[in-house]
Amino acid sequence: MVEMDCLFCKIVAGQIPASIVKKTDLITAFNDITPQAPTHILIIPNKHYVNMAEVANSDLTLAGEIFKAAGDIAAELRLENYRTNINTGAGAGQSVFHAHLHLLGGRSFAWPPG
Ligand code: 5GP
Ligand code: ZN
Repeated sequence: MVEMDCLFCKIVAGQIPASIVKKTDLITAFNDITPQAPTHILIIPNKHYVNMAEVANSDLTLAGEIFKAAGDIAAELRLENYRTNINTGAGAGQSVFHAHLHLLGGRSFAWPPG
C-alpha cells in the first residue's frame, strides 16, 4: 500500500531514490540522508504504518523482521557497538510518520540520550 504523501512509501516504491542496504518482501533498509553517525541506517516496513507500536500491534512477525534486520545488518557491517532507536511522536523527534527503526554505529554513544 503506497500512501501518496508518504516519503518512505515512495522510497519503498522506488519513486524517490535512496541508498538501499537491504530489501526483502517485508522490509527495506537504507542509509539516512542526514547521518548522525558513520553508520546510520533506517529499517522500515514496506507496508505503511505510522509508527513501530502500530506495526507491533498489527503484525508481530513484521516487527520481528525489522529487529532481526537491524541485528543482521550490524553483524554484516561488523559493528561492535551500535544503537537502535525508535522515535515515536513529534515530541520524541519523529519527523517521518512511516514506522522506522534507526540503526546507528561507528562511534560511541552517550547515555542518557538527549
Ligand atoms: P525520525 O526523525 O522520524 O525518527 O527519523 C526520520 C529520518 O529520516 C531522519 O533521520 C531523516 O534524516 C531521514 N530522512 C528524511 N528524509 C529522508 C530522505 O529523503 N531520504 C533518506 N534516506 N532519509 C531521510
Ligand atoms: Zn508510508
